[in-house]
Amino acid sequence: MLKQWRTMLSSAPLRLCGKVNSKSQQENASGSVPRPGLSATSCSRYFRGYPLAFFVLCLFSLCTDSHGEELRTEHFTARRERMVREQIEARGITDTKVLTALRKVERHRFVPDNLASEAYTDSPLPIGEGQTISQPYIVAFMTQILDLDVTKKVLEVGTGSGYQAAILAEICREVYTVEIIDSLAEQAKQRLSELGYLNIRVKTGDGYQGWKEFAPFDAILVTCAPTHIPDPLKEQLAEGGRMVIPVGERRVQELVLLRKEKGRLIQESVLPVRFVPMLKDKENFW
Ligand code: SAH
Repeated sequence: MLKQWRTMLSSAPLRLCGKVNSKSQQENASGSVPRPGLSATSCSRYFRGYPLAFFVLCLFSLCTDSHGEELRTEHFTARRERMVREQIEARGITDTKVLTALRKVERHRFVPDNLASEAYTDSPLPIGEGQTISQPYIVAFMTQILDLDVTKKVLEVGTGSGYQAAILAEICREVYTVEIIDSLAEQAKQRLSELGYLNIRVKTGDGYQGWKEFAPFDAILVTCAPTHIPDPLKEQLAEGGRMVIPVGERRVQELVLLRKEKGRLIQESVLPVRFVPMLKDKENFW
Protein backbone atom coordinates (compact mmCIF):
# COMPACT_ATOMS: atom_id res chain seq x y z
CA MET A 1 0.00 0.00 0.00
CA LEU A 2 2.79 2.36 1.02
CA LYS A 3 4.65 1.51 -2.15
CA GLN A 4 1.56 2.29 -4.20
CA TRP A 5 1.17 5.69 -2.48
CA ARG A 6 4.83 6.48 -3.08
CA THR A 7 4.49 5.72 -6.78
CA MET A 8 1.43 7.91 -7.03
CA LEU A 9 3.10 10.71 -5.14
CA SER A 10 6.18 10.61 -7.32
CA SER A 11 4.20 10.58 -10.54
CA ALA A 12 1.52 13.11 -9.56
CA PRO A 13 3.70 16.23 -9.25
CA LEU A 14 5.09 15.64 -12.74
CA ARG A 15 1.64 15.61 -14.22
CA LEU A 16 0.68 18.56 -12.08
CA CYS A 17 3.60 20.59 -13.40
CA GLY A 18 2.69 19.70 -16.92
CA LYS A 19 -0.83 20.98 -16.45
CA VAL A 20 0.23 24.20 -14.72
CA ASN A 21 2.78 24.89 -17.41
CA SER A 22 0.51 24.37 -20.36
CA LYS A 23 -2.26 26.40 -18.71
CA SER A 24 0.00 29.25 -17.71
CA GLN A 25 1.57 29.29 -21.16
CA GLN A 26 -1.88 29.77 -22.65
CA GLU A 27 -2.70 32.45 -20.12
CA ASN A 28 0.58 34.28 -20.48
CA ALA A 29 0.02 34.37 -24.18
CA SER A 30 -3.17 36.36 -23.71
CA GLY A 31 -1.28 38.50 -21.15
CA SER A 32 -4.31 39.20 -18.99
CA VAL A 33 -4.76 36.40 -16.41
CA PRO A 34 -2.27 36.14 -13.50
CA ARG A 35 -0.51 32.82 -12.97
CA PRO A 36 -2.67 30.75 -10.64
CA GLY A 37 -1.34 30.24 -7.12
CA LEU A 38 -1.39 26.89 -5.37
CA SER A 39 -4.53 27.48 -3.32
CA ALA A 40 -6.44 24.44 -2.05
CA THR A 41 -9.08 24.88 -4.75
CA SER A 42 -6.61 25.26 -7.60
CA CYS A 43 -4.63 22.27 -6.28
CA SER A 44 -7.72 20.15 -6.21
CA ARG A 45 -8.50 21.21 -9.77
CA TYR A 46 -5.11 19.97 -10.98
CA PHE A 47 -5.47 16.79 -8.98
CA ARG A 48 -8.95 16.13 -10.32
CA GLY A 49 -7.87 12.86 -11.85
CA TYR A 50 -5.87 11.83 -8.79
CA PRO A 51 -8.05 12.21 -5.70
CA LEU A 52 -6.07 9.66 -3.71
CA ALA A 53 -2.76 11.38 -4.44
CA PHE A 54 -4.30 14.71 -3.40
CA PHE A 55 -5.58 13.18 -0.18
CA VAL A 56 -2.19 11.62 0.59
CA LEU A 57 -0.40 14.89 -0.07
CA CYS A 58 -2.73 16.72 2.33
CA LEU A 59 -2.24 14.03 4.96
CA PHE A 60 1.53 14.20 4.50
CA SER A 61 1.61 17.98 4.93
CA LEU A 62 -0.63 17.71 8.01
CA CYS A 63 1.73 15.12 9.54
CA THR A 64 4.79 17.29 8.88
CA ASP A 65 3.03 20.30 10.45
CA SER A 66 2.03 18.40 13.58
CA HIS A 67 5.52 16.90 13.85
CA GLY A 68 6.98 20.42 13.63
CA GLU A 69 4.57 21.57 16.34
CA GLU A 70 5.58 18.61 18.54
CA LEU A 71 9.26 19.49 18.19
CA ARG A 72 8.51 23.13 18.99
CA THR A 73 6.56 22.10 22.11
CA GLU A 74 9.40 19.80 23.26
CA HIS A 75 11.93 22.56 22.69
CA PHE A 76 9.91 25.04 24.77
CA THR A 77 9.30 22.47 27.53
CA ALA A 78 13.07 21.96 27.86
CA ARG A 79 13.69 25.70 27.99
CA ARG A 80 10.96 26.17 30.58
CA GLU A 81 12.47 23.44 32.75
CA ARG A 82 15.84 25.18 32.53
CA MET A 83 14.23 28.52 33.37
CA VAL A 84 12.70 27.04 36.53
CA ARG A 85 15.96 25.39 37.62
CA GLU A 86 18.37 28.21 36.84
CA GLN A 87 16.31 31.34 37.44
CA ILE A 88 13.72 30.30 40.01
CA GLU A 89 14.92 27.39 42.19
CA ALA A 90 18.51 28.63 42.13
CA ARG A 91 17.31 31.94 43.60
CA GLY A 92 15.56 30.27 46.51
CA ILE A 93 11.92 29.77 45.47
CA THR A 94 10.80 26.58 47.24
CA ASP A 95 6.97 26.52 47.20
CA THR A 96 6.22 23.43 45.11
CA LYS A 97 2.85 24.82 44.00
CA VAL A 98 4.62 27.83 42.50
CA LEU A 99 7.33 25.72 40.88
CA THR A 100 4.76 23.33 39.40
CA ALA A 101 2.74 26.24 37.98
CA LEU A 102 5.83 27.79 36.40
CA ARG A 103 6.74 24.44 34.86
CA LYS A 104 3.26 24.07 33.44
CA VAL A 105 2.25 27.48 32.09
CA GLU A 106 3.67 28.07 28.61
CA ARG A 107 5.10 31.58 28.84
CA HIS A 108 5.80 31.62 25.09
CA ARG A 109 2.03 31.72 24.51
CA PHE A 110 1.79 35.03 26.41
CA VAL A 111 4.33 37.05 24.43
CA PRO A 112 4.09 38.37 20.86
CA ASP A 113 4.96 35.67 18.26
CA ASN A 114 8.21 37.35 17.25
CA LEU A 115 9.41 37.16 20.88
CA ALA A 116 8.47 33.52 21.53
CA SER A 117 12.12 32.45 21.37
CA GLU A 118 12.90 34.95 24.19
CA ALA A 119 10.03 33.78 26.40
CA TYR A 120 12.22 31.83 28.83
CA THR A 121 14.96 34.40 29.28
CA ASP A 122 15.58 36.09 32.62
CA SER A 123 13.85 39.37 31.81
CA PRO A 124 10.59 41.24 31.29
CA LEU A 125 9.42 41.47 27.65
CA PRO A 126 7.27 43.98 25.77
CA ILE A 127 3.64 42.95 25.19
CA GLY A 128 2.44 46.05 23.28
CA GLU A 129 0.87 49.37 24.39
CA GLY A 130 4.16 50.21 26.12
CA GLN A 131 3.57 47.47 28.72
CA THR A 132 5.60 44.41 29.72
CA ILE A 133 5.21 40.85 30.98
CA SER A 134 7.17 40.61 34.25
CA GLN A 135 10.47 38.74 34.68
CA PRO A 136 9.71 35.07 35.55
CA TYR A 137 11.56 35.31 38.88
CA ILE A 138 9.46 38.29 40.00
CA VAL A 139 6.28 36.39 39.10
CA ALA A 140 7.47 33.44 41.19
CA PHE A 141 8.63 35.62 44.10
CA MET A 142 5.37 37.60 44.34
CA THR A 143 3.28 34.44 44.07
CA GLN A 144 5.25 32.59 46.75
CA ILE A 145 5.11 35.48 49.22
CA LEU A 146 1.30 35.43 49.13
CA ASP A 147 1.27 31.91 50.61
CA LEU A 148 -1.51 30.66 48.32
CA ASP A 149 -3.42 27.41 48.02
CA VAL A 150 -6.50 26.00 46.37
CA THR A 151 -8.88 27.58 48.91
CA LYS A 152 -7.87 31.16 48.05
CA LYS A 153 -9.63 33.85 46.02
CA VAL A 154 -7.19 36.35 44.53
CA LEU A 155 -7.30 39.77 42.90
CA GLU A 156 -4.61 40.79 40.43
CA VAL A 157 -4.22 44.43 39.34
CA GLY A 158 -2.55 44.76 35.92
CA THR A 159 -3.57 41.76 33.76
CA GLY A 160 -1.16 42.60 30.92
CA SER A 161 -0.58 39.39 28.97
CA GLY A 162 -2.51 37.23 31.46
CA TYR A 163 0.59 35.17 32.39
CA GLN A 164 0.58 36.02 36.09
CA ALA A 165 -3.18 35.37 36.20
CA ALA A 166 -2.60 31.91 34.68
CA ILE A 167 0.05 31.12 37.32
CA LEU A 168 -2.36 32.19 40.07
CA ALA A 169 -5.18 30.16 38.51
CA GLU A 170 -3.04 27.00 38.63
CA ILE A 171 -2.80 27.38 42.41
CA CYS A 172 -5.97 29.13 43.60
CA ARG A 173 -9.71 28.64 43.48
CA GLU A 174 -10.65 31.92 41.77
CA VAL A 175 -8.71 34.73 40.12
CA TYR A 176 -10.08 38.21 39.39
CA THR A 177 -7.87 40.42 37.28
CA VAL A 178 -8.26 44.06 36.24
CA GLU A 179 -6.51 45.77 33.31
CA ILE A 180 -6.84 49.46 32.43
CA ILE A 181 -5.94 49.11 28.71
CA ASP A 182 -8.93 47.62 26.95
CA SER A 183 -7.03 45.97 24.05
CA LEU A 184 -4.73 44.14 26.51
CA ALA A 185 -7.67 43.03 28.65
CA GLU A 186 -9.50 41.67 25.60
CA GLN A 187 -6.42 39.81 24.28
CA ALA A 188 -5.73 38.31 27.69
CA LYS A 189 -9.36 37.27 28.10
CA GLN A 190 -9.31 35.48 24.75
CA ARG A 191 -5.92 33.84 25.35
CA LEU A 192 -6.90 32.58 28.80
CA SER A 193 -10.17 31.17 27.55
CA GLU A 194 -8.42 29.44 24.63
CA LEU A 195 -6.05 27.89 27.15
CA GLY A 196 -9.04 26.57 29.06
CA TYR A 197 -8.91 28.62 32.27
CA LEU A 198 -12.40 28.63 33.76
CA ASN A 199 -11.47 30.16 37.12
CA ILE A 200 -10.20 33.54 35.86
CA ARG A 201 -12.35 36.64 35.33
CA VAL A 202 -10.84 39.56 33.43
CA LYS A 203 -12.26 43.08 33.32
CA THR A 204 -11.22 46.39 31.83
CA GLY A 205 -11.06 49.05 34.51
CA ASP A 206 -8.98 51.04 36.94
CA GLY A 207 -7.39 48.54 39.30
CA TYR A 208 -6.80 51.31 41.84
CA GLN A 209 -10.46 50.75 42.70
CA GLY A 210 -10.04 46.96 43.07
CA TRP A 211 -13.09 44.85 42.17
CA LYS A 212 -15.63 45.58 44.89
CA GLU A 213 -18.30 43.20 43.62
CA PHE A 214 -16.15 40.14 44.42
CA ALA A 215 -14.36 41.45 47.54
CA PRO A 216 -13.04 40.53 50.04
CA PHE A 217 -9.97 38.79 48.56
CA ASP A 218 -7.67 36.41 50.41
CA ALA A 219 -4.77 37.84 48.46
CA ILE A 220 -4.09 40.85 46.22
CA LEU A 221 -1.17 41.01 43.77
CA VAL A 222 -0.42 44.30 42.03
CA THR A 223 1.84 44.34 38.95
CA CYS A 224 1.98 48.09 38.28
CA ALA A 225 3.35 50.68 40.69
CA PRO A 226 1.21 53.38 42.33
CA THR A 227 2.84 56.14 44.35
CA HIS A 228 0.91 55.05 47.46
CA ILE A 229 -1.11 52.01 48.52
CA PRO A 230 -4.69 52.43 47.22
CA ASP A 231 -7.29 52.62 50.02
CA PRO A 232 -9.85 50.51 48.09
CA LEU A 233 -7.31 47.66 47.91
CA LYS A 234 -6.66 47.88 51.66
CA GLU A 235 -10.40 47.68 52.26
CA GLN A 236 -10.94 44.76 49.88
CA LEU A 237 -8.29 42.59 51.55
CA ALA A 238 -9.86 39.88 53.72
CA GLU A 239 -8.99 39.40 57.39
CA GLY A 240 -5.79 37.30 57.51
CA GLY A 241 -5.17 38.18 53.84
CA ARG A 242 -1.94 39.26 52.15
CA MET A 243 -1.22 41.90 49.53
CA VAL A 244 1.98 42.35 47.53
CA ILE A 245 2.44 45.67 45.73
CA PRO A 246 5.28 47.74 44.24
CA VAL A 247 5.10 51.30 45.60
CA GLY A 248 7.05 54.37 44.57
CA GLU A 249 7.99 56.76 41.81
CA ARG A 250 8.82 55.75 38.24
CA ARG A 251 12.46 54.78 38.88
CA VAL A 252 12.66 53.71 42.53
CA GLN A 253 10.10 51.39 44.01
CA GLU A 254 9.87 49.00 46.94
CA LEU A 255 7.93 45.77 46.81
CA VAL A 256 5.72 45.94 49.89
CA LEU A 257 4.03 43.01 51.64
CA LEU A 258 0.94 43.81 53.72
CA ARG A 259 -0.88 41.47 56.08
CA LYS A 260 -4.27 42.20 57.58
CA GLU A 261 -4.40 41.01 61.20
CA LYS A 262 -7.30 41.85 63.51
CA GLY A 263 -8.32 44.58 61.09
CA ARG A 264 -4.85 46.20 61.15
CA LEU A 265 -2.38 46.28 58.29
CA ILE A 266 1.16 45.18 58.98
CA GLN A 267 3.55 46.39 56.33
CA GLU A 268 7.10 45.38 55.37
CA SER A 269 9.39 46.20 52.45
CA VAL A 270 10.77 43.07 50.86
CA LEU A 271 12.68 43.96 47.67
CA PRO A 272 13.72 46.95 45.57
CA VAL A 273 11.94 46.60 42.19
CA ARG A 274 11.06 48.39 38.97
CA PHE A 275 7.54 48.06 37.55
CA VAL A 276 5.57 50.08 35.01
CA PRO A 277 3.63 52.86 36.76
CA MET A 278 -0.03 52.44 37.73
CA LEU A 279 -1.96 54.49 35.18
CA LYS A 280 -4.71 56.84 36.21
CA ASP A 281 -8.21 56.54 34.87
CA LYS A 282 -9.46 59.84 33.36
CA GLU A 283 -12.61 59.71 35.47
CA ASN A 284 -11.05 58.77 38.79
CA PHE A 285 -8.59 61.07 40.46
CA TRP A 286 -6.40 59.61 43.15
N1 SAH B 1 0.81 40.85 35.17
C1 SAH B 1 1.17 41.12 33.80
C2 SAH B 1 2.25 42.18 33.71
C3 SAH B 1 1.61 43.44 33.65
S1 SAH B 1 2.53 44.91 33.43
C4 SAH B 1 1.55 39.88 33.05
O1 SAH B 1 1.65 38.81 33.64
O2 SAH B 1 1.74 39.98 31.83
C5 SAH B 1 1.42 45.97 34.26
C6 SAH B 1 0.05 46.10 33.68
O3 SAH B 1 -0.69 46.97 34.53
C7 SAH B 1 0.01 46.72 32.29
O4 SAH B 1 -0.67 45.88 31.41
C8 SAH B 1 -0.76 48.01 32.51
O5 SAH B 1 -1.57 48.40 31.43
C9 SAH B 1 -1.59 47.69 33.74
N2 SAH B 1 -2.05 48.85 34.50
C10 SAH B 1 -1.44 50.06 34.67
N3 SAH B 1 -2.21 50.86 35.43
C11 SAH B 1 -3.33 50.15 35.75
C12 SAH B 1 -4.49 50.44 36.51
N4 SAH B 1 -4.69 51.64 37.10
N5 SAH B 1 -5.42 49.48 36.62
C13 SAH B 1 -5.27 48.26 36.04
N6 SAH B 1 -4.19 47.94 35.29
C14 SAH B 1 -3.22 48.86 35.16
